[in-house]
Amino acid sequence: MIFLDNASTTKMFDDSFEIMKEYSLINYFNPSAVYGKGVFVHKRLEEARETVAGLIGCSSENIIFTSSATESTNLAILGSIKSTTKHIVTSEIEHPATYNTFLNLKEKGINVSYLSTNADGTINIESVKEVVTNKTDIISIMQVNNETGAVNDVKKIVAIAKKINPKIIAICDGVQAFGKIPVNVISLGVDFYVISSHKVHGPKGVGALYVKNLNALKPQLIGGGQERGFRSSTENVAGILAFANSAKRKVGNLLADYEFVKSLKEICISKLSKCSLISFNSPETSSPYILSFSAKNLKAEVLLHMLEEFDICVGNGSACSSHHKDNRVLRSMGVKTENIIGTIRLSFSCFNTREEIEFACDKIIECVNKLNNIIGNK
Ligand code: PLP
Repeated sequence: MIFLDNASTTKMFDDSFEIMKEYSLINYFNPSAVYGKGVFVHKRLEEARETVAGLIGCSSENIIFTSSATESTNLAILGSIKSTTKHIVTSEIEHPATYNTFLNLKEKGINVSYLSTNADGTINIESVKEVVTNKTDIISIMQVNNETGAVNDVKKIVAIAKKINPKIIAICDGVQAFGKIPVNVISLGVDFYVISSHKVHGPKGVGALYVKNLNALKPQLIGGGQERGFRSSTENVAGILAFANSAKRKVGNLLADYEFVKSLKEICISKLSKCSLISFNSPETSSPYILSFSAKNLKAEVLLHMLEEFDICVGNGSACSSHHKDNRVLRSMGVKTENIIGTIRLSFSCFNTREEIEFACDKIIECVNKLNNIIGNK
């Protein structure tokens, strides 16, 4: 199988799986238990917290473990809403975890404004000055877009927003950035930073949230007060420890992986650009992990299933929004409908090989031409 949908999820590292096994079958104790075995597990949990914190340049007290990036995002946004919150800002390219949470708040009467998108898929920095006011309470933006790989200048956007209103809360979805490009939450200037385990070869159902100022955060899961009262529920110790291991490995290999996936993406661009029906949606400056392309007037879903016949897995748009016919992100970039419908996302990992990529690109071109002939496009 050739797996080119690594932005949706990744294969777990073997040693992370071994850790999960150990902390599920042997050291399965509750980290809140006061007997020795519980204390041992609690210590391991705190070491994992230190590891994750160190990887994004913060202190372990500022990390809360959650069940996913979606939960982390919900906690950051909803946990920052106060009775006085009137105006919040996000962008048109956000993942549904952010975008739909904002829609929900809009329905509840909070004024929501959107930053516009450049043709290359990045957030229009100039629009920050037009949209954020000295009364805006929250701004939530992503670092790397999951559909196109477009990389936003979070540091600059946050600096502009904080210059307009020094009290604004800045939330950043770093899911497709963490482990792939260097991240330092202090230098980014954000108040919250969201990461997910399963995008960096860790288990699914584990996330983390960097919180700059814990005193200002309202917990959303109320219960036994685990995670220092900010997120109740018994911690997923096996998952968190495996996540910390995968994250450490991924960040440790960041530069080598970056260069490797960059070379894979370059092969794709060079091969696919020979097909006149294909155009690229990912800008040149995008993350090397993601390549979005459109096959003019062809249905992405049909192409995807044709490729599946060769045991090649690709994404159509993003996995989370694959059942939606339209594509909000591409639409906001000004991509034409004839291209939106035929959009395929290739996303890479350190497990891919050059041979796989060469083969997959040949098959993509073959399938695009075949489908185009069948439906009789000129
Ligand atoms: N944010 C981005 C940019 C993503 O790509 C994803 C997953 O696709 C998420 C958030 C949600 O992550 P999780 O599956 O951990 O909830």
